[in-house]
Amino acid sequence: MSQGCPSGGCSSCNVENCGSRQLTTLNDVKINKIIGILSGKGGVGKSMLTSLLAIELANKGYKVGIMDADITGPSIPKMFGLDNQLFGDEIGIFPGESKKNIKIVSMNMMLETEDTPVLWRGPILGNVLSQFYSEVHWGELDYLLIDMPPGTGDVAISVMQTIPVDGFVMVSSPSKLVSMVVGKTINMANTVNSKVYGLVENMAYVKCPDCGKEIKIYNDDDIENISKKFNLDVLAKLPIDPDLANKADNGLIDDYNGDYLKDLIERIEKENE
Ligand code: ADP
Repeated sequence: MSQGCPSGGCSSCNVENCGSRQLTTLNDVKINKIIGILSGKGGVGKSMLTSLLAIELANKGYKVGIMDADITGPSIPKMFGLDNQLFGDEIGIFPGESKKNIKIVSMNMMLETEDTPVLWRGPILGNVLSQFYSEVHWGELDYLLIDMPPGTGDVAISVMQTIPVDGFVMVSSPSKLVSMVVGKTINMANTVNSKVYGLVENMAYVKCPDCGKEIKIYNDDDIENISKKFNLDVLAKLPIDPDLANKADNGLIDDYNGDYLKDLIERIEKENE
């Protein structure tokens, strides 16, 4: 951010073409909208939602990229079956590309082995992530999705302040503990004056394979409570879907052809008209 920028960073500012917003140093890059996928804690399905949203957008004909900023659990390349390392030229990194031409950059694609731990501290991680935005040959994208670091730590805040995210999607799962931390994350997005498109409840129910009945595992109405408290709509409820889990585990998530996120995509399109 430069002097004179609002404290919330680019996401809280309406000036489209200012110098600070043109963070990317590559002149072949044109990104229309940047969407962050947030959750209060790990394991609720943030990477799954990022992948499904990217695929549904790609299925609608949009050009999509994913920046995997979840350094602690960078699972995106694995879900798409991308095990090649990234390479670059003197000005930037070339993203990997999925079968549906979704461009993907992740820390795991820069490590020698996928189980090498990343032991850097917050400020260095923040710098690396801002380079994932500014020094990648993204080309032309309709949507760049960011799989955000979980929680409200300094890496998440650094991403919010240095990358001009247009809006966030919040993922939760039906448990009091998860919904409490989601509340904290929504407050963090509000603090940097970022738009939140709405809420997604993951693992909301299971479908009986015999009769098709939807069975809720928890009786809580936590997502409805968060929705009322923060005045945000619930834009999707995803079941625990064994087929999705298998596809993700086997690097075949690109084969998903569903429309769980139809309402969410309509909202994103409407907000960005
Ligand atoms: P996070 O990014 O929040 O840490 P992930 O997206 O990596 O969480 O999901 C955690 C695990 O749960 C992964 O193994 C993923 O494949 C699985 N998973 C997530 N959502 C679903 C779902 N709706 N149905 C089945 N498995 C899921």
